[in-house]
Amino acid sequence: MSMDKMRAWKLLEDMSFVRIAGSEEDKKAAELLKDYCEAAGVPAVIEEYEIDVVEIKKATLEVLEPEYHAYPVIGIGKTANTPEEGLTGGFKYIEDATETNLTDVAGKIVLLQGRGKPDLYKTLQKKGALGYISLGGNMYEDESIKNELRPMNAFGKDNPLPGLRIHISEAEKLVRSKPEKVRIVLDAEQKKATSYNVVATIDGTDLKDEVIAFSAHYDSVPYSKGSWDNATGSVTIAELMHYFKEKGTRRTMKFVWCGAEEIGLIGSREYCKAHKDELENYIFNINFDMTGVTIGYEHCCCSTSEDTLHAIEFLAKLNNYPVKTELGTYSSDSTSFAGAGVPAITFARLQAMGGAQIHNHNDTMEHLDPDSFMITLNFAALFAEQIANAPVNPIPRKLADKVTEKLEEMKKRLAAMETKNEEEKKPEAEEKKEEAAEEKK
Ligand SMILES: [Zn+2]
Repeated sequence: MSMDKMRAWKLLEDMSFVRIAGSEEDKKAAELLKDYCEAAGVPAVIEEYEIDVVEIKKATLEVLEPEYHAYPVIGIGKTANTPEEGLTGGFKYIEDATETNLTDVAGKIVLLQGRGKPDLYKTLQKKGALGYISLGGNMYEDESIKNELRPMNAFGKDNPLPGLRIHISEAEKLVRSKPEKVRIVLDAEQKKATSYNVVATIDGTDLKDEVIAFSAHYDSVPYSKGSWDNATGSVTIAELMHYFKEKGTRRTMKFVWCGAEEIGLIGSREYCKAHKDELENYIFNINFDMTGVTIGYEHCCCSTSEDTLHAIEFLAKLNNYPVKTELGTYSSDSTSFAGAGVPAITFARLQAMGGAQIHNHNDTMEHLDPDSFMITLNFAALFAEQIANAPVNPIPRKLADKVTEKLEEMKKRLAAMETKNEEEKKPEAEEKKEEAAEEKK
């Protein structure tokens, strides 16, 4: 048996620990995957790259008048630090930061909804604001999740104002208390850290010069064991590796476990950079991001030509694989490959409305099951096998206009951000992903 759902389940359990890019656990996960490949008889290497991380040493928000109250907040990375004693001033809720909202912010700490445009913070500074607080979370979350606000970085490194993040429920209390005088403290340090891609290779036979790259990110976000997002995808490509190790393949296969996806698709972008000259031989990238959820549905986002999209739909119907397809870019590592010119797709098994959650401590094995996991995997194996062994490459090396447009948009935004900050690597994809995750909830 070349695919084994209980073996897959064991690896899924083994990978279910918090694995934040740049942490010790990140390294542990990368080594676990490399050892796993080698135990399966497939040579693997770990490729390292540098990432930016922010350590928040202190972040506080206190209302001093009319009545003292300290609110729980987290610091926003890549914003300015306050002096050690903090900044003290008035307070204003500036809602959506329209022109009208910004008329009297001088000497104040402002609270805003959303993230604001990158140039908002300079405008705020010009108008004399001292610092800002942005909202996160959802009022209807239970208390345990309210404590898991996700750390964030600001756009660009020249954000001139100290920034804090508060849960929306706390923000409601804050606004109602009509603060007259507040104090904020932020002490954060930017550092370099290392993250990893794990790359295993099965050489092809007579068509070995052509490469199919399977990918899945193995990192998780803080508080999340990332069983669903994305140990499931990681295990899916591990099973595909077993399958093709046993069956053989005419085309070469790369299995790439990407790190640092959650902080802006960094691992896959680094992979495409490091292997730039080889990518012309990569005919296809098949990415997996979240499979195996019991109450879910199959989804495939194609960053390909229309032909490939239709071929997938056709093959899915022939094999009774119930998949919803779309042409576009997905907030996952397939976008890095597509951006480098390689046709790419992401398979995901998304949750039904009101279903399982990601990006908090609820992302465990609880809502996953081996049979649901096999639905995506079985189709992917069948699909990949046909491509791997086809006499001619069946994937046109072109992207539909709609895909190209989306990639261009993303590149423009990235370029705009990079002129502000060459080190800033968090693309808009990340934000979209958060929005999508919110919607999915
Ligand atoms: Zn993911």
